[in-house]
Amino acid sequence: MNKALRKVVIAGNWKMNKTPAEAKELIAAIAPLVKDADCEVVACTPFVDLTSAQEAAAGTNIQIGAENCHWEVSGAYTGEISAQMLTSMGVNIVIIGHSERRQYFGETDVTVQKRVRAALDAGLTVILCVGETLEQREQGITSELVAMQTKIALGGVTEEELKRIIIAYEPVWAIGTGKTATAEQANEVCHTIRECIASVYSQAAADGITIQYGGSMNAGNAAELLAQPDVDGGLIGGASLKPNDFATIVKAATEG
Ligand code: PEP
Repeated sequence: MNKALRKVVIAGNWKMNKTPAEAKELIAAIAPLVKDADCEVVACTPFVDLTSAQEAAAGTNIQIGAENCHWEVSGAYTGEISAQMLTSMGVNIVIIGHSERRQYFGETDVTVQKRVRAALDAGLTVILCVGETLEQREQGITSELVAMQTKIALGGVTEEELKRIIIAYEPVWAIGTGKTATAEQANEVCHTIRECIASVYSQAAADGITIQYGGSMNAGNAAELLAQPDVDGGLIGGASLKPNDFATIVKAATEG
């Protein structure tokens, strides 16, 4: 399948940045810069910013997403937010399994799978993050590791549901470090993930799924990364907080 037929998605991951008032300002600054985008544009914000970001994004082509959700609908899970809580406020996309959740908050492949299940059941689209640490890359186990993360996270997900999954390949060593994977490295692993989808589902599913690269993507390196045949967009951390840089990445995606 021609890459041009896949959905290209540029998503910002704001992490733990911006107050609600600042979120409104940031969306207002980004909106005019990306209004002609030929790809999907998403900003995933902290939970407390969702409403103000949605207000600022109303009438624009920016979708507002969340950065995580819990697997239960409700209950004694202090500090967590359910998928239903997100959909009740009009959110329809959520990041699951970000490496910072895995690294700092004990997220495992199994809890990622549970969160993916809950998000899909609630009707959300999921940006599922997978990726290897530097140690794992140096051990030569990147392909196996990323395929395993993908398979476990998607356990029980049907081919129909897969249409609401976007996979973000994010090498842990490249996130927030300024070290970007080379375009070849990014493409190679995105291709491996696509082959994994073909083996578990079908070639059609593999051809249709959007696979992003994430890890220090910025205004300077985006064009080369996004031009790769298996890279269908980006998950952007630091640069998503800078309107001009984020807009440059969105433009590069359109041209990639
Ligand atoms: C991320 O948080 O998903 C990410 C890719 O961060 P950064 O772009 O800052 O490396």
